[in-house]
Formats: sequence, structure tokens, C-alpha cells
Amino acid sequence: MTRTIACPENTDLLAFAAGDHASPVVRSHVDACPRCLRAVRRLRVEIGCLRSSLGPEPRGPSPALALPKASSGG
Ligand SMILES: [Zn+2]
Repeated sequence: MTRTIACPENTDLLAFAAGDHASPVVRSHVDACPRCLRAVRRLRVEIGCLRSSLGPEPRGPSPALALPKASSGG
């Protein structure tokens, strides 16, 4: 096993994935740690989905969630 520095916390990876406050230490680590690199890539995909969801378009409840009312028998 190769000796590497401890993996950064998830919050650090998230910041790196978002491109905000990316620490050079985290950047260097992700470049050398394939495990964290995969995590960052996944986070970037999730961030893209979140930003898309936060768009101006209102997202109402899905009609599929509305179950048909059951008729109450007497
Ligand atoms: Zn790592």
C-alpha cells in the first residue's frame, strides 16, 4: 500500500467539486487519490442537478403522487 495523506472531509470535497474555496491541499489530494476523484465527480453531477432544480421554473407536486380518493361506503 502506498502511504498517502488522509482523505479530506466530505465538506472539503464538496467545496472542491463546487469550485468554491478549493484548498490547494484538497486539489492536490484529489489529483492523487482516485477514490476522492470519483467522489468529486459524483458530487459535481449532483450539484448540476441541484442547480438545475433551483431554476425559476416552479416544480409543483407530481400528479403521480396524488392517489385517487377511495369512495367511502356507508
Ligand atoms: Zn482520498
